[in-house]
Amino acid sequence: MRLIDGKAVAAELRAEVAGAVAKRVAAGCRPPALAVVLVGEDPASQVYVRNKVQACQEAGIRSRTHRLPADVAEAALLDLVQELNTDPEIDGILVQLPLPPQCNAARVIEAIHPGKDVDGFHPVNAGRLALGLPGFVPCTPAGCLRLLKTVHAELAGLEALVIGRSTIVGRPMAALLVSESATVTVAHSKSRDLPALVSRADIVVAAVGQAEMVRGGWLKPGATVIDVGINRVTGANGKARLVGDVAFAEAAEVAGAITPVPGGVGPMTIACLLLNTLRAAA
Ligand code: NAD
Repeated sequence: MRLIDGKAVAAELRAEVAGAVAKRVAAGCRPPALAVVLVGEDPASQVYVRNKVQACQEAGIRSRTHRLPADVAEAALLDLVQELNTDPEIDGILVQLPLPPQCNAARVIEAIHPGKDVDGFHPVNAGRLALGLPGFVPCTPAGCLRLLKTVHAELAGLEALVIGRSTIVGRPMAALLVSESATVTVAHSKSRDLPALVSRADIVVAAVGQAEMVRGGWLKPGATVIDVGINRVTGANGKARLVGDVAFAEAAEVAGAITPVPGGVGPMTIACLLLNTLRAAA
């Protein structure tokens, strides 16, 4: 069994981005610049934003964080997005989700200029991905694909199962795998007999948000498992720990390759955000 080291693959990609940024700057261009919009005080969002800002800094990408109060009116948030859309000093715009209830996330995302939509959530970018056209690809599934390619040089013809159909992970993941000519099945909360679907798959991407729901005994021997899930559970010792959507210890007995949680998909998401920001600047 091979452990897919997301930390190492992400570090490599981050170094590549940093190298390309340095080259741009040496050629006389300003560094790529990302605007991060954070609404409210959600502790998880604060951590994510801090990590993204720090990763930008390490890659030589400029970032600017706009903090808005939790009770900000949607109109004010839309005004800020509009301002950033036309700001020539800003290449990428990221609005950290979730947003408070008075701000409609779909409306806010649609307000971002598709050319600055480094999260790849705008309908234009989602549509381009669905059509197999170039555009900004959401960072988590883009990272998953990179990890898969460290195991499989060629994905064509492989049976891939994506568990979950969210707009930020499952759907774009399925679209990417279709473009790679895999044979793709998407499972979701209404799917019947998930174990049978899993048992057919050469590749399983689990993005459900339920701790260890995919059991090792369901897997086809030798399958490649990408575990997107991040679930906080309390261990037998009473301490909190993070687990994925796949029962790791069981799955590691059967899989050919598997990502750990943490240290698998998580680090790739930020690395792909840096890459998207570099591309937005280019
Ligand atoms: P989501 O809640 O938006 O979607 C979950 C999906 O799982 C839904 O499409 C639902 O239909 C499906 N589902 C629910 N129960 C199911 C079942 N019994 N069988 C099959 N499918 C079922 O979640 P999301 O935003 O896609 O995130 C999924 C997980 O990935 C979460 O744990 C989240 O924390 C994690 N995540 C990690 C990263 C990262 O960077 N590593 C990024 C995004 C999300």
